[in-house]
Amino acid sequence: MAYSIAEIAGFTGGSLIQDHAAGEIQYLVTDSRRISFPETSLFIALQTSLRDGHKYIREAYNRGVRFFMIQHDTLPPEIKNVSCLVVGNTLEALQLIAARHRSRFQYPVMGITGSNGKTIVKEWLFQLLQPDERIVRSPRSYNSQIGVPLSVWQMNSHHSLAIFEAGISLPGEMQQLQHIIQPTYGIFTNLGEAHNEGFSSWQQKLQEKMLLFKQVQLLFCAIDDERVKQAAQDLEVPLFTTGHTKEADLYITGTERAAHSTSITAIYNGQQRTIVIPFTDEASVRNAITCWAVLLHSEMPDDSIAERMLLLQPVDMRLQLVQALNGCALINDSYSFDLSSFAIALEFLQQQQQFHSKTVILSDLPEHTPEPVYHAVAHMLAQKQVGRVITIGPLWQQWKAALASLPARVEQYTGTAQFLQQVNANHFRNEAILLKGARLFAFEQMVTMLARRVHQTMMEINLSALSHNLKQYQQQLKPGTRLMAMVKAFGYGSGSAEVASVLQFHQVDYLAVAYADEGVDLRKAGISLPVLVLNADEAAFETLVQYNLEPELFSFPVLQSFLHFLEQQALESYPVHLKLDTGMHRLGFESHDMPALKALLERYGNRIAVRSVFSHLAASEDPAEDAFTGQQAARFRENCHKIQEALGYPFIRHLSNSAAIFRLPALQFDMVRLGIGLYGVDSANTHQLSLKTVATLTTTIAQLRNVKAGETIGYNRRGQLSRDSVIATLRIGYADGYSRKLGNGNGKVWIKGQLAPVVGTVCMDMLMVDVTDIPGITENDLVEVFGPNLPVQQVAEWSGTIAYEILTAIGQRVKRVYVEE
Ligand SMILES: *Cc1c(COP(=O)(O)O)cnc(C)c1O
Repeated sequence: MAYSIAEIAGFTGGSLIQDHAAGEIQYLVTDSRRISFPETSLFIALQTSLRDGHKYIREAYNRGVRFFMIQHDTLPPEIKNVSCLVVGNTLEALQLIAARHRSRFQYPVMGITGSNGKTIVKEWLFQLLQPDERIVRSPRSYNSQIGVPLSVWQMNSHHSLAIFEAGISLPGEMQQLQHIIQPTYGIFTNLGEAHNEGFSSWQQKLQEKMLLFKQVQLLFCAIDDERVKQAAQDLEVPLFTTGHTKEADLYITGTERAAHSTSITAIYNGQQRTIVIPFTDEASVRNAITCWAVLLHSEMPDDSIAERMLLLQPVDMRLQLVQALNGCALINDSYSFDLSSFAIALEFLQQQQQFHSKTVILSDLPEHTPEPVYHAVAHMLAQKQVGRVITIGPLWQQWKAALASLPARVEQYTGTAQFLQQVNANHFRNEAILLKGARLFAFEQMVTMLARRVHQTMMEINLSALSHNLKQYQQQLKPGTRLMAMVKAFGYGSGSAEVASVLQFHQVDYLAVAYADEGVDLRKAGISLPVLVLNADEAAFETLVQYNLEPELFSFPVLQSFLHFLEQQALESYPVHLKLDTGMHRLGFESHDMPALKALLERYGNRIAVRSVFSHLAASEDPAEDAFTGQQAARFRENCHKIQEALGYPFIRHLSNSAAIFRLPALQFDMVRLGIGLYGVDSANTHQLSLKTVATLTTTIAQLRNVKAGETIGYNRRGQLSRDSVIATLRIGYADGYSRKLGNGNGKVWIKGQLAPVVGTVCMDMLMVDVTDIPGITENDLVEVFGPNLPVQQVAEWSGTIAYEILTAIGQRVKRVYVEE
């Protein structure tokens, strides 16, 4: 479905300041990095507290975009022959456009909101209704003020049903989303207990959420929660209720859990019915009941309902990057196959700059997908410079003309079975491989073939949480303050190239590593941001220059030998950073060094270009030391001033680490250095930043045994049992970085919602825990060593250290798996 720029202007009440572009608008883009169809895209320059889309107009233009919507009065002068619409507020205009688009369709639209389960309910309804309907739905969890209009924009006349989710974080937002979605049916998942972040109370939050439903024909909601029941009744719209009470339309009379499934019995229309779902957790049962209500209302026959419920698939919308054989990495995104999720997956592939070659393996699109969509996929592959494309399925063979003009090498197979027969893992080497396939094609068999299967202890790094944390700190910065991200020590154990790729994507200003070799790894991984090397010595100078890395110069010997090196190499104006010691007494020039430093800079200063002058705070997280921190800042300011006099040109001044950014905003100077906070640890324990866990270390149970009271566990018989016990042996030990200090009950691990203490000493590759009090444990069960359920700070406390040490001590043999939500 396409619109002319004049129509769009009409929807928004904006004025056209240029009108030279030909053609119509089919796509709305708000991110200049995500442009697949430039000729038919409208670039919308959104202005948020973190990012001003107007800065990316040139980039969008260079990529071929000719339609723009802006809220500044003018375009950069070199942007010509385009059509440009000026509106008062681009976000509001985007929402208006989406609302007008929505109004054109008569088919039912479901709007889902609630504290948890929105995405699962949406995806499950999609799974359950897909055989009968042509469904358009929010990609992933696009449910924000920007995500909802972009989701709604995907509606077209081929669809028969739309399912959108809506999420809010501030009062006033739902009103907007209601205008855009205009739901015919409403689904309220639940009201969570936790945090009312952004709202004054749960009442306010609930009332706000309910605004989505003010005009629905029917609202599905659970009434076990009295608060929800009341709020739903107050809306005065027809309700379809579920709950463990006779008064509910779908009256749940029993749930019975087996090892891997749950059977749910209920009474509806006076008749008893049962479904079985392949899940056992409470949230899944709740979400399944919600979906059940929708199916019953649609008058789907009971046997179809039962059959489809039994086949429900877990929803994992995250993209995973896993190390694979022959130096490859696999991105497995086999959940669903539609254009918008494909665009997201391709983007993620492109971000993996540590791999020079990229391969995409893709299956046929879902049945009845028309040929032009195959062409659109091919077009996206061409744009993202994918080197090799492997198609699986007969339809790609039928439409192979779509692939003819691709610069990539193309291989075609009739199905997954043929691929597995003809190809082995040696077919791939040092490349990033994106697997994108409809479920039907069982791509998990390829994953088994390609993924490296090693020791089952792994550390999951959540790159979306990392981006979230970055944002939390960026919001603390005064306007114009730059940000240097610390990725030293293998990115605090998280993996430097992967983390740096995300940071580069989010356009941080600088990266910092400890040693030159770490910087080289970043360059080899395609990182082009400026990189500061904190600890460069003479032996590394050659490497620094070769890889365009910028040293920290912290003493006269280092400064002099670097100046000498530059002279020999006939290099001038090489970027460097001067380190001052203001009280930490680790590295740096002190106040009494200033006269000599000034003299040296005045004489030889042209060989170097001082990019920044900085110092490190010794105790920024500790309020009791704030006076000392203040002294450090005063010394810093004074010495910067002296260096400024000697150099006669400006440089960046920076002092704050993670704890100071938030606690002491007056010390932000021109740039801050963000370290541990990025990885989700609030070192200052302020509890005021909502950071997300980035690293989750998990292992599995190798063996379970019953051991009698009086027996002992492990080396030197340190674990004495005072009762008959169940002991689990885990696949992790001190060689993986799990400290021996955590032995003998000091440390605990998280299994099935409970903590199990370590018994006896920690071994090199294993350890034993007491699981006597935890029912239902089996061998190979997953164990969280630290992560969202067991914070790394807690583990650090148990072993008498800090989170920094725990994170950076996790051994290299522990496989890192990267996920993006
Ligand atoms: C490691 C480091 C930081 C980051 O400290 P966090 O407490 O992790 O934020 C900042 N500056 C320097 C010089 C560092 O070495």
